[in-house]
Amino acid sequence: TPGVRPLIAGNWKMHGLAADGLALARAVAAGGEGIAAEILVCPPATLVMAVAAAVQGGPVAVGGQDCHLVAKGAHTGDVSAPMLADAGARYVIVGHSERRADHHETDAVVKAKAASAIAHGLVPIVCVGETLAQREAGEAESVVRVQVAGSLPEGFVAAGGVVAYEPVWAIGTGRTPTEADIAAIHAALRQAVGPATRLLYGGSVKPGNAAAILALPNVDGALVGGASLVAEDFLAIARAA
Ligand code: PEP
Repeated sequence: TPGVRPLIAGNWKMHGLAADGLALARAVAAGGEGIAAEILVCPPATLVMAVAAAVQGGPVAVGGQDCHLVAKGAHTGDVSAPMLADAGARYVIVGHSERRADHHETDAVVKAKAASAIAHGLVPIVCVGETLAQREAGEAESVVRVQVAGSLPEGFVAAGGVVAYEPVWAIGTGRTPTEADIAAIHAALRQAVGPATRLLYGGSVKPGNAAAILALPNVDGALVGGASLVAEDFLAIARAA
């Protein structure tokens, strides 16, 4: 989208111990110098603080992969938005399909998490996307529209919130929608969120398909899973933006 700086975000998921996570972050930071796109890495919660310290002052921002909907309290095992901000995060992914599936997160919960992120100075990246059954039933666009309507809180656009379209069946599978299908969903998203909100595509983005996907109208970056664990691959995707 004209005038919009692309965002290339890496979702490490549940990967990374201190040694390899910090090495990966440092390699991305070193290779990220001079790349036009904004680069973000989202390590597991255990590494957010150390990775943020390691890449501070460089071209790479750090994000969490999820946050709780309240700031603190009796929620064993959860991490809140102010905790992530305090650890050095600037972004947080909310509503990833793995969270929606594994932890039964509804649109209402995702909306509350995004609101908490904004309230504590984090930029939320809200994920939406249809399942294979929904795509085959011709429901992809309506599913995504309903998710966006239900998952974006008040103040989302003003806070610079990001939406990631991630078809569930494309995540980690090596399968991607056609370019026309991606463009169609992103056009619908653009209608819903207006001109300034960055819209990412996610789902089996690799160095080999990144340039074509990132050139599509209304695709303002990518959310990258598997390929974000290999510095050279992730940087190649960032350079393609
Ligand atoms: C993701 O889960 O955010 C993702 C896009 O994964 P992958 O790139 O591995 O498909």
